[in-house]
Amino acid sequence: MELEHIGIAVKSLSQSIPLFEALLNTPCYKEEWVASEAVKTAFFSSGPQKIELLESTDPQGVIAKFIEKKGEGIHHIAFAVTDLEAEMKRLKAAGFVLLHETPRPGADNKLICFLHPKNTNGVLIELCMEKP
Ligand code: ZN
Repeated sequence: MELEHIGIAVKSLSQSIPLFEALLNTPCYKEEWVASEAVKTAFFSSGPQKIELLESTDPQGVIAKFIEKKGEGIHHIAFAVTDLEAEMKRLKAAGFVLLHETPRPGADNKLICFLHPKNTNGVLIELCMEKP
């Protein structure tokens, strides 16, 4: 699996986009609203990898709750896979807990699945695959 992106929970994309543009010295190349996850996302290139900023669009959404509990910061690490369903099956058989049983639509033209952080040293892991 190859590291694809790091997801960072932020309170405000309008404040964080200029900050990360200044930090990485590169413009945000895409902003996208993912209704099913109740997030607005913004992407930056960092070499072949990406940084994904996530702002909640719903006070009850997962990102809003994450910030409420832990504050802003790294929310998840995403790995690219070539066959998402096969990887989900492999990891489930290896004892990892999937947060959903079927791939879900994610930002950036991806299908995604999250692994429960209780089995991954407290790190929320996203698997992602380019939509066929
Ligand atoms: Zn992500």
